[in-house]
Amino acid sequence: MTLTSGLGGQLSIDLGALARNWRALDKVSAGALTAAVVKADAYGTGIESASRALHAAGARFFFVATPDEGMAVRAAVPDAHIFVLYGLYPGAANLYIRQNLMPVLSSMGMLEEWLNKCIERNEAYPAAFHFDTGINRLGFRLSEASQVRERIGQLGFAPQMIMSHLACADTPNHEKNRTQLALFGSVMSQFPAIPASLANSAGLMTGRDYHFQMVRPGIALYGGRAVNGRRNPMQPVVTLHVPILQITEGRTGETVGYGANYTLNRNSRLAVLGYGYADGILRSLSSSNQRPGGKAFIRGKLCPIVGRISMDLTIVDVTELGSDLPMPGEGAEVLGPNVPLDDQADAGGTIGYELLTSLKGRYGRNYVGDGRLPD
Ligand SMILES: *Cc1c(COP(=O)(O)O)cnc(C)c1O
Repeated sequence: MTLTSGLGGQLSIDLGALARNWRALDKVSAGALTAAVVKADAYGTGIESASRALHAAGARFFFVATPDEGMAVRAAVPDAHIFVLYGLYPGAANLYIRQNLMPVLSSMGMLEEWLNKCIERNEAYPAAFHFDTGINRLGFRLSEASQVRERIGQLGFAPQMIMSHLACADTPNHEKNRTQLALFGSVMSQFPAIPASLANSAGLMTGRDYHFQMVRPGIALYGGRAVNGRRNPMQPVVTLHVPILQITEGRTGETVGYGANYTLNRNSRLAVLGYGYADGILRSLSSSNQRPGGKAFIRGKLCPIVGRISMDLTIVDVTELGSDLPMPGEGAEVLGPNVPLDDQADAGGTIGYELLTSLKGRYGRNYVGDGRLPD
């Protein structure tokens, strides 16, 4: 539900920042095409608006997970080249063709179904091939490469692109990256002259060896940290303000919230926020006396979440604000430039990806700017 009264919280999505992030990554990967991964409602930011802004910034290649997401991008960006990462849904080939969606084929069953459709219609509809080089998720096994090659060789069919996905790209020194790179090289040598793609955001930032012909950033476009242990160079895209409902006084020794597992060790002022796990904040950002939790930025200061987060409410200790107390109705920033996505995620033992894709609350949503940028 989106509030239209303007009285609730506000999720603000900066399409200008999204566009600048795409441009910055496109510079880093100069020489390769820079696609945009917009699966999961563009990481919670809204697939239509995000796709339009990315297209205006220069993106022409889009990756989605499902054919439904592909249709949403098609409607927003008529001339997009769209890859569907889930591959071919059984029985859905006609839909892909009608919508001009390219399946990322990852099994012999999918390949057969796609080739049969091409034979039936006497046209080589484009598709990418995904090879699993070590994540054991979607993809042809490496041992299937020769079988794939033989099958398409009989028909004179060529994939539009071959791709694979890195398991440990967020840790650039992890030896698995080099192993996967080498295995991907062996697949490429079996499909000479076919464009190749390996890198997600982290792979893109790790180095040119990983770029090949196309890079596939997702999280970095939305301002998230792709590589661990480094300064995140991306601009924040998402800012969320939620309303302060009430300021209350708590006495030393009293407890806060369900389970009574946070005891005040001083007389405190508490702000009660109209924001809870039903609005997409993870309950793991709760705190106890033993373990700190997430933060909210109020009147220029970061204030700690205290006690358990409940369905609709979150309690924040604002004692440090002294007499500069916020008024009921005022907003508290819970994600944004002052509360970085990944700091908040770290506090909840999760990742920025999960916080972004959980944004689905009882707050308004507004878009700032667009993808058009001065050159
Ligand atoms: C989600 C996904 C990406 C984007 O990954 P980020 O880490 O968000 O940059 C790229 N490739 C594949 C196959 C994916 O599933």
